[in-house]
Amino acid sequence: MYTFDEIVAHEDIINHLQTAIKTKKISHAYIFDGEKGMGKKMLANTFAKTLQCEKKGISPCDECISCRTYDSLNHPDIIFVEQTKKTGIGVNDIREQINQNINIKPYQYPYKIYIVDNADSMTEQAQNALLKTLEEPPSYVIILLLSNNINKFLVTIISRCVVLKLKPVMPKEVKNYLTDMIKISNDEAELITSFAQGIIGKAKELSSSQEFFDMREEMIVISNSIIYDDEYELLKICDKFDNYKDNIQEFLDLLMTWFRDLLIVKKINDDLYLINRDKYEILVKQSHNLPYYRISEIIENILNAKNLLRYNSNFRLVMEMMITQTKENKDDKSNWR
Ligand SMILES: [Zn+2]
Repeated sequence: MYTFDEIVAHEDIINHLQTAIKTKKISHAYIFDGEKGMGKKMLANTFAKTLQCEKKGISPCDECISCRTYDSLNHPDIIFVEQTKKTGIGVNDIREQINQNINIKPYQYPYKIYIVDNADSMTEQAQNALLKTLEEPPSYVIILLLSNNINKFLVTIISRCVVLKLKPVMPKEVKNYLTDMIKISNDEAELITSFAQGIIGKAKELSSSQEFFDMREEMIVISNSIIYDDEYELLKICDKFDNYKDNIQEFLDLLMTWFRDLLIVKKINDDLYLINRDKYEILVKQSHNLPYYRISEIIENILNAKNLLRYNSNFRLVMEMMITQTKENKDDKSNWR
């Protein structure tokens, strides 16, 4: 279930962990920091599994009792610390799940490993409680903290941990993962890669998300409307945006890649660099109805809307502005010409 071979990229971190195992220079505490879906759990879990493996190699053997009990999530000496309150990991969680049993030696294996997911949700009190443990941990203890935002830790916590920062994966690697491991078509992989932002977990999620593909179809309907409809019809499509209020940034990204593709079709009339390559024919048709300057203006309007929405501006107002501006600009220019 967890092996280093299954992890896409992050070679530097894997290398660091394997060298630590090989040279027996294992720290008492690590922070795995990176966005959701980047592979923090995979890395931390595989590290923990390797440390307890009876074969004592730099990768888990996947055969010994330790490896097998770990895969069935019943390992006696690997503890998953859980938050009991919605508000985050509290001081009682740390006291009850770590501090109170940390002095009890491991049952069977060389280490006692604590894995704390969402560790950056620890309250200050919780962090202070953990700090006491980090100051003088028993020799067999290893604590793995998983976080999305390292800035939420107290400096004193960070200074006692080895910090491993996960970086986005190269687009080529994301695409290979999608075509080779998830077995989706080249065109779909291309589309998803451009949205995954180098995050394998996100790529995987999108590849199985009907919602994402439905959203793109709806986006194409809207793009048609922007290009062909009159002002009255155009305002009506603002209602459609309401369905995407919760993931509007993603929706606008889709819309933006569409107009970016239009620009490319117009300029080089080739599908090689397109994100929406599977929709080449629609793009060609639309591109005949749009001058360059209008495509650039529309992209600019979308970018503008994205920025405004980031600052909690009035949703409906921003969308209406974005839509009517594309129209107004068109009229201005056509009257002017
Ligand atoms: Zn093993």
